[in-house]
Amino acid sequence: VLVYAVFLRKTTRTHRADLMRFHRTIFEKEELVARLNREKQRAEAASSAKSEFLATMSHEIRTPLNGVIGMLQLLEDSELTADQRLQADVALTSANALLRLLNDILDLAKIESGKLDFERIAFSPAAVMEEVSVLMAANAEEKGLGYRAVIDPRIPPAVWGDPARLKQVLANLVGNAVKFTDRGSVEMSLTLGELRDGLAITRFSVRDTGIGINEQQRQKLFEKFIQGDSSTTRRFGGSGLGLAISQQLVQRMGGEIRVRSQLGEGSEFYFELPLELAEADALSRATEDSDHPWMAGRVLVVEDEPVNQRVISVMLQRFGLEVVIADNGLEAVQRALTEDWAVVLMDLRLPGVDGLEATR
Ligand code: ADP
Repeated sequence: VLVYAVFLRKTTRTHRADLMRFHRTIFEKEELVARLNREKQRAEAASSAKSEFLATMSHEIRTPLNGVIGMLQLLEDSELTADQRLQADVALTSANALLRLLNDILDLAKIESGKLDFERIAFSPAAVMEEVSVLMAANAEEKGLGYRAVIDPRIPPAVWGDPARLKQVLANLVGNAVKFTDRGSVEMSLTLGELRDGLAITRFSVRDTGIGINEQQRQKLFEKFIQGDSSTTRRFGGSGLGLAISQQLVQRMGGEIRVRSQLGEGSEFYFELPLELAEADALSRATEDSDHPWMAGRVLVVEDEPVNQRVISVMLQRFGLEVVIADNGLEAVQRALTEDWAVVLMDLRLPGVDGLEATR
């Protein structure tokens, strides 16, 4: 400013008028840019507050819903008349649908607020395919569809990554394929592109002979809350969130879901993932870790919500475990230190000392 002022004083009157005009334009531009920046920050804060809110709310809704589902499952295991069984079935199906929707919303909120974490463990891609098939083949059969899962024998036995997220994506794609196919078959396949620099370039594909997707739908396919057309919701249900979430997950894993489709002929959803090779013994260590040799013993459940306390107790007791409840963090710490436990299940939010602090 000082240099500029000195400079201004030295110029002639006409020059000075020119410069003042120039100066004003610059000033206005700067102010505009500053205002835009302020607005942008405000919009970003609002958007992340929204995601934060969604994440918290979904969590709060899940707690009582888990109570409903847990109790309905117990009810289903008891002696019921045919009518009562039908009623319990409908209630359980609805509650599960609600839980799925909630999980989708929670996932999306996590993705949007940048809070979605990926695990890195050794896993077998073939085993993931197998697990998805176990879930989905029955649904396909129920609709009279053929179902096949094909795995390239050259696929490495063990890679690093997040098997649960991969499974989520594949289950969603196969689920859609079954949902939008009335005749014919669904096929999931995994092929190896190449092996280089410790990476396996893999290609996952899910193909169906269903209703297909037209060009206009295809462009908006991966946007959230978008469904093929408004009749889709009525005919097939769903939220329009599955593909949006799957695309984000695949992108985070280093790939991109693409689609090829012919209206009335069927669709193929496919993506390539670079998967880092793991040694086979990393895999056996990982499976050993997830074995549960302690299906007998005393379990300390730290949980303050009475509904959850009941649901968790009854469920664990069904496994033959002895359950003791502590309803706050302090009591949990005392009992954990002075008694013998097979495992302590710790809630996160607790009155007083919270779950994280108690665990530490
Ligand atoms: P949802 O299945 O819950 O509606 P998605 O995001 O998974 O949500 O899918 C969005 C839309 O994409 C679906 O409503 C449907 O119109 C279309 N779609 C997805 N997969 C297929 C498929 N395999 N065949 C035909 N249409 C599909």
